[in-house]
Amino acid sequence: MRKYNDQVATPYGVIEYTVTVKGVKNLSVHLSKEGKVLVSVPYLTPAALVQSFIEKNAALIIRAKEKVEKRNSVNTMKGEVTLWGKTYPIIYRKGTKRLIFAEDAITVYYPEEEYEAWLGKELKKILSKEVERIRGKYDAIIAEYHIKAPEIRYREMSSQWGNCRPKVSRVTLNTRLIHYPKVCLEYVMLHEYMHFLQPNHSKSFHALLKHYMPEYRQIEKMLK
Ligand SMILES: [Zn+2]
Repeated sequence: MRKYNDQVATPYGVIEYTVTVKGVKNLSVHLSKEGKVLVSVPYLTPAALVQSFIEKNAALIIRAKEKVEKRNSVNTMKGEVTLWGKTYPIIYRKGTKRLIFAEDAITVYYPEEEYEAWLGKELKKILSKEVERIRGKYDAIIAEYHIKAPEIRYREMSSQWGNCRPKVSRVTLNTRLIHYPKVCLEYVMLHEYMHFLQPNHSKSFHALLKHYMPEYRQIEKMLK
């Protein structure tokens, strides 16, 4: 395995990327959580070929990059945090681990100044508490179809807000939902639960969404 950095000027701006040469069959591009462009290529792939591939797909790559960066920007925990769509400055105090919520700020008490990872876990707890509070109505909808209440898991994801695996009765929610207005969480819950009834995004799937949440299109836009 070999790695090198490269860049290419495109009509959409310069794209910097990291190439990993390894035993894969095809060239593939993906973005890291931070929005870095990562390319995997088979052995003996000329750098010029990678460049022309990036160039050809520049519009797509830039768009995807912007999306990831936009998402990361609401997720930042350096000095401020966005909770349910509202951004609060963080006041740090040395002390025993706890969070104090006020109208206009969140105070983080933590033994050291590196509290980000702990805060992330606390936010996840707040999210799961909210999910437990609201899930009853979604459980009730699928119960009418004799589908049992699923297990709900949480994971930070970069390309989806949630997913549903009917076979194992599981819904996974993106932990980043904590940063968006609560109505977005409601929407993603409904969306994933409706996949227990309709596995794809067919017309009848959208009819279900509309039935239970007539304004769902507007909420979808907030999550774009
Ligand atoms: Zn879906």
